[in-house]
Amino acid sequence: MLARARDARHREASRVTIIGAVIDFLLGVAKLLAGYFAHSQALIADGIHSLSDLLTDGIVLFASRQSSHGPDAEHPYGHGRFETIATVGLAVALVLVAAGIAYDAARRMFEQDVVSEPGVLALVVALSSIAGKEWIYHYTMRAAKRHRSEMLRANAWHSRTDAFSSVIVVIGIAGAMAGFTYLDAIAAIGVALIIAHIGWSLGWNALKELADTAVDERQRGLLRESIMGVDGVKDLHMLRTRHAGGQVLVDVHIIINPHISISEGHHISEVVSHRLLKEFEDVTDVTVHIDPEDDEEEAVSLSLPMRGEMLKRIRRQLEGHTEAGRIERFTLHYLAGKVGVELLMPFDDASQPDSCRDIERQFREALAADPLIESLRVYWY
Ligand SMILES: [Zn+2]
Ligand SMILES: [Zn+2]
Repeated sequence: MLARARDARHREASRVTIIGAVIDFLLGVAKLLAGYFAHSQALIADGIHSLSDLLTDGIVLFASRQSSHGPDAEHPYGHGRFETIATVGLAVALVLVAAGIAYDAARRMFEQDVVSEPGVLALVVALSSIAGKEWIYHYTMRAAKRHRSEMLRANAWHSRTDAFSSVIVVIGIAGAMAGFTYLDAIAAIGVALIIAHIGWSLGWNALKELADTAVDERQRGLLRESIMGVDGVKDLHMLRTRHAGGQVLVDVHIIINPHISISEGHHISEVVSHRLLKEFEDVTDVTVHIDPEDDEEEAVSLSLPMRGEMLKRIRRQLEGHTEAGRIERFTLHYLAGKVGVELLMPFDDASQPDSCRDIERQFREALAADPLIESLRVYWY
């Protein structure tokens, strides 16, 4: 994501998240109080659910702040994993809270004498919770569509599942008021299961991220398609991805024409990384490695001598040829385990096409014995 667009999105994401959080807080406190004074365990559980959402929202807010900082010297891949670490902690807390609620509700079901019928206040607050959560869903979803933000979209769906949690509570309270007092405790256990499920999936995804799990096949395919669409990319391999918070880090090898210049190859790699950053909102870091040939199985050219030694070899083999002193530039192509040699020679007034052909033939014969040299080309200018 480019810095300026990232800032605008970050501001919008923050505003939507803050408004959702304020409503969550008000609903959470109202549910805890009404649940306590109007005797509904299910409503108390739902209140805890709302307040735990507040913590989740806090982490989202914190994460979008942190990731808008971008990378620094100490954290060169950005600050996305701060969100991940906090999420693991929150997940553990949610599962423990859920277990506590379920245990408490189950205990009370077997001690029918301590159960008292919930009051009408509990029902009113639970109904307001459904309305409030549904409103947050629509509000957040509009922002998600406007900014094509997967994070906000996920938040919106979370609000809708919250509304579902409150529907369970309404059924429990209404049932208890109608005389089926155990229904409130059953609803509390239902809400506890929802909280536990949220905690479990949050924690599981965060742990997968810490284990450097790749993006799914679908997004991998989209990334691949986008890279292959860049002019000059012949193929790619080692497309590796991992997550950091809501961000995706990508590195990839692209195969390009081995005879173009370094600057053109670099240009292609820059276009590839720029394109991924622009097209995928969650991609924040791209490293492109340029390959002149497929080296996925084996780097066959790795053992070849470096330029200094190759030039010494070539000069030694051309020793005695008077024309060898006029070579202006050596270009070496390290391909398929051998070196292709290109020589640049000045074509001056004294040069004749016939003598050029002679020189080329002599050079070729001199280098033919070298097992490392694949081919020779002489360019005259
Ligand atoms: Zn830092
Ligand atoms: Zn490669």
